[in-house]
Amino acid sequence: MRFEMQDWDATVDALKEADRVALACHVNPDGDALGSLFAAALGLKQLGKEVFPSFGNGPSEIPFSYAFLPGIDLLVQPNDVPQTDTFLALDCGAGHRLAALEKVAGAAGTTINVDHHPGNDDFGRYNIVVTTVSSTAEIVTRLLQDLGVELDEQIATCLYVGIVTDTGRFQYSNSTPDTLRLAADLLSLGVDAPRIAQEVYESSPFGYLKLTGRVLERAVLHEDVRFVYSFITRADLTETGVAPDETDGLIDLVRSTRAADVAAMFKEQADGAWRVSLRSKGPSVGLLARKRGGGGHELAAGFTAGSDLRSTAAELVADLAASSDGS
Ligand code: 5GP
Ligand code: MN
Repeated sequence: MRFEMQDWDATVDALKEADRVALACHVNPDGDALGSLFAAALGLKQLGKEVFPSFGNGPSEIPFSYAFLPGIDLLVQPNDVPQTDTFLALDCGAGHRLAALEKVAGAAGTTINVDHHPGNDDFGRYNIVVTTVSSTAEIVTRLLQDLGVELDEQIATCLYVGIVTDTGRFQYSNSTPDTLRLAADLLSLGVDAPRIAQEVYESSPFGYLKLTGRVLERAVLHEDVRFVYSFITRADLTETGVAPDETDGLIDLVRSTRAADVAAMFKEQADGAWRVSLRSKGPSVGLLARKRGGGGHELAAGFTAGSDLRSTAAELVADLAASSDGS
């Protein structure tokens, strides 16, 4: 099944013709980014192409809960990715989120941008941006099918991980009948869903329980604007022995209170800045993130703030108050 869009056929043709393809997903990758990256790499490899999947600024390491993904042995460090004619970017809402790979993408003859984020900056020569699907993995599935790739158990596993993580285990509004039908098709190819659930959601280190305690204990509620937030410092991570890339699930605990519609998690970075994750049950947090140089979806977005957590939180509260006034 193809998506009816301008660059689809050109993308399929370009990938068919390519001998060597460099691929990358966004920096600090999540399940959809990694699942899409390795599904595409395995699929193109099956067609006899040389593939160079990568991400980040290097040294790049696969987060523990995704280390079971088929294809990770193909991972190439960003500095070792050769200049190729064809570059495939996956799940990357903006060119700069390719981090060190942005240079390689910029110098490639054909850069293909496959993504599902609204507000994608169309940095590719060909742009396959489908905002109505749950995940980039859904688009990669169709692309691989059109390329004549046989979806084997390994590729299906990567694709399923992309879908299950980006839909919050099939809970969010992006989980459509088509999404569930596709997930069912992937299961019938032999995907081991219970094992994936364990690897992705039940593989945290013991210290994660302690970190969870800290984060929940210090949560702040702004009842008037129905906003809740908490934060994770660098010290929290060293003291509890949790890696920065193992903290993605904590926002889902903070958002679970019925007292709030919007939740934020602040994560302190090595340079003192705060990465902010936003989640919503209604108001557009995509807008809040884009206003601050970030991006994402309407109900799940992120941005990088300065070093003053409290004033950033206060600004978010003010914006939420202004938008609930209808102004
Ligand atoms: P998370 O909070 O899980 O890091 O990100 C939520 C969503 O927003 C994801 O789809 C992610 O790709 C996107 N996102 C997070 N931070 C940024 C950012 O700084 N820029 C852009 N363009 N998208 C972001
Ligand atoms: Mn995604």
